[in-house]
Amino acid sequence: MPDPASDILNILSARLGEANVIRDPAGMEGYLVEERRLYRGAAQAVIRPGSTEEVAFVVRECAGAGVPVVPQGGNTGLVGGGVPHGGIVLSLARLDRIREVNPFNATLTAEAGCILRDVQEAAKAADCLFPLSLASEGSCRIGGNIATNAGGVNVLRYGNTRDLVLGLEVVLADGRIWNGLKALRKDNTGYDLKNLFIGSEGTLGIVSAAVLKLFPQPKSQVAAFVGCASPHAALQLFEGLRRRLGDQLTAFEFMPRFALQIVLKHTPGAVRPLNGEHEAYALIEVSSPDPELDLRPRLERALEAALEAGIVEDAAIAASEAQNDALWSLRESLSHVQRLEGGSIKHDVAVPVSDVADFIVTATRACEEALPGVRVCAFGHFGDGNIHFNLSQPVGMEKAAFLAQWERFNRIVHDIVHAMNGSISAEHGVGLIKRDELARYKDPVALDLMRTLKMALDPQNILNPGKVLALEADLPPSL
Ligand code: FAD
Repeated sequence: MPDPASDILNILSARLGEANVIRDPAGMEGYLVEERRLYRGAAQAVIRPGSTEEVAFVVRECAGAGVPVVPQGGNTGLVGGGVPHGGIVLSLARLDRIREVNPFNATLTAEAGCILRDVQEAAKAADCLFPLSLASEGSCRIGGNIATNAGGVNVLRYGNTRDLVLGLEVVLADGRIWNGLKALRKDNTGYDLKNLFIGSEGTLGIVSAAVLKLFPQPKSQVAAFVGCASPHAALQLFEGLRRRLGDQLTAFEFMPRFALQIVLKHTPGAVRPLNGEHEAYALIEVSSPDPELDLRPRLERALEAALEAGIVEDAAIAASEAQNDALWSLRESLSHVQRLEGGSIKHDVAVPVSDVADFIVTATRACEEALPGVRVCAFGHFGDGNIHFNLSQPVGMEKAAFLAQWERFNRIVHDIVHAMNGSISAEHGVGLIKRDELARYKDPVALDLMRTLKMALDPQNILNPGKVLALEADLPPSL
């Protein structure tokens, strides 16, 4: 049977050059498998346009032939959103120019394929901060960050990616370019179109460039590692620090005892930050753009008060930048070391901050009752109410037998989240892995509005079909 995708590949290679139309299996391999290796896709080719106009050309041709287009940035997504199931992969990697840094406006205009770390560095070179920060920042790309509304470790102070975007340039499903590249702090001229595309995971349009918000570069910064008796004590600590330190509290990350144990076990050279063991740990960071402000004594006083009140059991404040980095690397190596403990079942969830300790305790108990020996690793962005509620397989259990229980644990964890009026996807998105969960838990009216928007912006369903929403002609999700 003739395949419309192969029919247009020659047209695309005539415009973009053969080197930017990858058809051989070895060249495509890295684009077909996602980070966690839960999904393997298939595509006719990987197309690598080098400009917004070329992106528009590709989408127009694909729309004309009815060929699905799956946009891809750094392919670090964790929900199978960038994995193709037919059609073409549209890699944004060659759109990697920083178009402008404007310190006066406190804005930076970047093309979608810029690696997040390069955006951070460009801001830093202008003595500014672009605060989005994730463990994948060396390989994820800003277009992917926008498409997933990425979170990370600085949301507490600066918000999600959505809060960091002022303007967007987007290629629509019919190949038209929407130039919404505005650097305005205020603009009430009708519907907020940019926010439709942010977090839409490539299903409504292809982000080709963005105007991003910059902030003053922190000039004083100090981190502390704190041991508490329980998640509830950690919550009390968070509430007290937030009141006392306000915006200077820029991160509050949570790790349970098990998480620190496996980090220390698997990371050569990692140093135990506190002498004893504790049920719950918090990695705290305070920062300020004022170089003359010594934050250390402020943090010391706040932690001393918490110690005296019995909220904190022990605390260590970094005495140098190297110690700061060492504390952060304990937190950042968690995803990696979990892999070394065998299979894991992961949930990226959010609840109101006031419920985050209750959630951890309730969900931990429920999972341990459901499968004795399961090792709960509930860590993450505690100050945002966002917990990566991950389960490591019981010691000695077959990995496949454990992973076969993913659905069962989804029900346990997501039911608890839902009962707390939370979200089954806090920052990683829906992609394929949570598509059916979304259909189960999302308000039916909201789902209906989402389908209406999808049909209005992409009536042919060619943009990342089958992701986020199940439409009639979509593929079933397959793990
Ligand atoms: P991809 O994986 O390439 O794509 C992700 C989705 O966006 C796909 O649906 C794709 O089709 C779509 N897409 C990509 N580019 C575009 C575009 N230009 N226009 C339209 N759609 C597009 N995420 C967090 O939020 N917080 C974290 O703390 C965090 N930590 C992580 C740590 C590790 C070690 C890893 C591996 C991942 C982590 N992630 C985290 C997940 C991931 O890095 C983010 O989702 C990131 O934003 C994805 O960017 P990407 O360029 O890799 O996108």
